[in-house]
Amino acid sequence: MTPLLCFIYSYTKSFPRPGESVVGASFEAGPGGKGANQASQIARLGGRVIMIGRVGSDIFAPVNIESMKQSGVITDYIEKDPVVNTATAMITVTSEGENSIVVTLGANLELSAQRAEEMEPVIAKSKIMLCQYEIKFPALKKALEVAKRNNVKTFFNFAPGVPDFDKDVLKLVDYLCTNENETEFLSGMEVHSIDDAKKAAKYLLGFVTTAVVVTLGGKGAVLATPNEVKYIPAKPVKAVDTTGAGDSFCGALAYLLVYKPELPLEEQVQRACFVASISVQSKGTQTSYPYAKDLPEEWL
Ligand code: ADP
Repeated sequence: MTPLLCFIYSYTKSFPRPGESVVGASFEAGPGGKGANQASQIARLGGRVIMIGRVGSDIFAPVNIESMKQSGVITDYIEKDPVVNTATAMITVTSEGENSIVVTLGANLELSAQRAEEMEPVIAKSKIMLCQYEIKFPALKKALEVAKRNNVKTFFNFAPGVPDFDKDVLKLVDYLCTNENETEFLSGMEVHSIDDAKKAAKYLLGFVTTAVVVTLGGKGAVLATPNEVKYIPAKPVKAVDTTGAGDSFCGALAYLLVYKPELPLEEQVQRACFVASISVQSKGTQTSYPYAKDLPEEWL
């Protein structure tokens, strides 16, 4: 149960004032959305992944679907909304590097709890269900319930974080992954250091069944399990564009949970960090995600 979204970037000298038109220097549009990104990363690593999502009937829908297909994602269960448009993020970037963003979640918000019920036969045959939070709460909750009643493992990436999230639903979650901001939203604790992240991860572990991972950008991640809370450093790299690093990480970790179950969780998190560290070394989101062939042999 995952979200799709298209990005539209306009590069201008300055932001338009209300009522003003400014001439843009350049324009870019591309696919995105946390679910679409994560599914693409899984497929690029060689995983079989089915996307359950919703787009509009507009010009952005094929861009998103085509991009996922090219990575190898199964897109047959993505619904097309006849009325509401595909989710978009309109980003204006000035020559000073400032940005302003309007996100419209559009068709993502029309993905319903009923759709989660309808998808039960598909979810039931899966090894893991990976969810994000760019959809409505009832749809998320129902999808988690459907997975759990079919003994399917659940992985929830609480992104983007929001305040006042009902943590009771986390009892349906096996693996929880949050970045620093999302961790603060969910735990109500400030996260400025690795020690802060460890404390928050330990606290959040009390709400889920198996493990909590807090990602810390270039610093790596913290993994909390009932046995221990451990810091896992990231490989130092020259980062060019960190957009979508968290999605690369979640996709890689979900892949490893299913396809490398023999590895200890700590090793799986370390390898997911490695995959995400590749993604930050080139521009773009889905396009920066590595394929299996881009990884060292010992990784596979
Ligand atoms: P999000 O994109 O959700 O904010 P993070 O910024 O925490 O997520 O990044 C997710 C993961 O990507 C990190 O745990 C790390 O493994 C990797 N990563 C992110 N930024 C860098 C970086 N500058 N250098 C190396 N790895 C990075």
